[in-house]
Amino acid sequence: MAETIFSKIIAGEIPSHKVYEDDQVLAFLDIGPLSKGHTLVIPKEPAETLDQLSDESAEAIGRVLPRIARGVMKATGATEYNVLQNNGSRAHQAVMHVHFHIIPKEGDGTGLGIGWKPQSLDNEEAAELAARIAREL
Ligand code: 5GP
Repeated sequence: MAETIFSKIIAGEIPSHKVYEDDQVLAFLDIGPLSKGHTLVIPKEPAETLDQLSDESAEAIGRVLPRIARGVMKATGATEYNVLQNNGSRAHQAVMHVHFHIIPKEGDGTGLGIGWKPQSLDNEEAAELAARIAREL
């Protein structure tokens, strides 16, 4: 995997405002926050997208995400937030190293804006699709 800005942050080659670190996970403030306390949580493993991440790193991130979210909420006073995780450039991923955004939603409207255009779900197609996905797991 090509070196990214996040591998340089992990290596300590460029600075960050760190909020959490263990052997497998690092969390730090986003340099372009959507709201106060916008935090990035990343595995130290250099995977580009979530589907490429090992079970070990996934477990390590899953274990600390709620704790970091609680810390961000307590520190900022926010009570609502989004967790965002983008994979691929068309899905808005700019840094090709897996990361989870924790984005507080504040009363002033700052935070994540979401364009959500639901389509309909055909029962027959859904049954076939769910079975197809399940077979791939
Ligand atoms: P993505 O669109 O890939 O999901 O989000 C990447 C995020 O990384 C952006 O929100 C951007 O502000 C943040 N970011 C990019 N470069 C740096 C950096 O050098 N330091 C920090 N702390 N955040 C960065």
